Amino acid sequence: MTGFLQDRKSQIITKGKGNFDLIGGKPSIAGSVSQRACVFCGSRVVLYPIADAIHLVHGPIGCASYTWDIRGAMSSGPELHRNSFSTDLREKHVVFGGEKKLYAALVELIDKYQPKAAFVYSTCIVGVIGDDVQSVCRQVEKLKHIPVIPVMAEGFQGTKKDGYKIACDAMATLVGTDESKVISPISINILGDFNLAGELWILADYYKKIGVEIAASITGDGRVNDIQNAHRAALNVVQCSGSMLHLAKTMKEQYGIPFRKVSYFGIEDMSDALYEVAKFFGKEELMDNARDLVKEELKTLLPALEPYRNALQGKKAAIYVGGAFKAISLVKALRLIGVQTVIAGTQTGDTEDYKLLKTICDDGCILVDDSNPVELSEFVKQTGADLFIGGVKERPIAYKLGIGFCDHNHERKLALAGYEGMLNFAKEVYETVCSPVWRFAL
Ligand code: SF4
Repeated sequence: MTGFLQDRKSQIITKGKGNFDLIGGKPSIAGSVSQRACVFCGSRVVLYPIADAIHLVHGPIGCASYTWDIRGAMSSGPELHRNSFSTDLREKHVVFGGEKKLYAALVELIDKYQPKAAFVYSTCIVGVIGDDVQSVCRQVEKLKHIPVIPVMAEGFQGTKKDGYKIACDAMATLVGTDESKVISPISINILGDFNLAGELWILADYYKKIGVEIAASITGDGRVNDIQNAHRAALNVVQCSGSMLHLAKTMKEQYGIPFRKVSYFGIEDMSDALYEVAKFFGKEELMDNARDLVKEELKTLLPALEPYRNALQGKKAAIYVGGAFKAISLVKALRLIGVQTVIAGTQTGDTEDYKLLKTICDDGCILVDDSNPVELSEFVKQTGADLFIGGVKERPIAYKLGIGFCDHNHERKLALAGYEGMLNFAKEVYETVCSPVWRFAL
């Protein structure tokens, strides 16, 4: 490999060449034009789907507009989360402070919308001018009698992953503050599903069919009171472990709730998630229900996948996504439809995640942490990938290079989780890779 920043050497490896492990979790280096988002954005994507809370961004309007409706997280009830409230700090607030404006904005929003809680996000400039956000939140909480939670996520203080941790700490202040909900002994909290395109509802239906109740979804279609009662569920089931593992560990320490890491993408991982939960409760009936459900789903899914597998045989894919668990599931799901992964990278994977990712990839696959558009474009050209799976920042890379693109990030409107998600995924991959439009590109 040539043309890459030497300081990033330990973050790029090719499986089968040399005996190195990829080092994940390093801060982005200057000049690399990282595809990573900021700390504030990391906190926002995790908390955003809590639909009956207001989310107030204390900062310049750009921070709020950059993260406005950042996840297509659907709600079955209130939709307060879809607003991007901002204190719209200007030059005079930078000089004289923005605390008064924050106080006034919070009081006005709570009076107008009657939320169940308020999250207040501190941005870069607030960290620089030193507004006492925590003190303002305490004052308003006392006045309005709802939780007003400061999220001290100034963008400059680390990586997107640090933002996840800050969001988990903010939510941990809510957990355990109410006992009013009736919760079954056979209940789980779903952590790390964000109800993109209604995916949570697909999963909830599976769990219901095998006999497991969902006490709280954190945070897709999330509700403040569910999170307040979440300490009484029997098990935390954690997807997108990069964003929510910290909360699962905190709840284990504070309330003794065990957790299991799962993924809901692809047949293998979706089925394992159901079996894992059934096994935890140790009831034969739940395991039988899970087996029946999987059998029933596969009866129709496998034949439906066949034409896509035939058409896609031998195609090559590049994956660059937020978390490592998603990348691992995608490698397996692509293999199932005949597609080989030739590039696999993430924004937030750590060294252990990459060891696992390496074991499931084929020889020759390039693994990369915290990449940038120049590297990714170069890798696509080197490997001859036919498809790029990523998010909004990777879409132009694919289209400029004249290859197919599949959105597997926050913004997508197509459910890709579960068995029906697997079929949607195969269809989407087929439609983009085999589109006749690529004959006219370049
Ligand atoms: S880096 Fe700072 S200024 Fe930019 S969006 Fe993030 S919080 Fe706002």
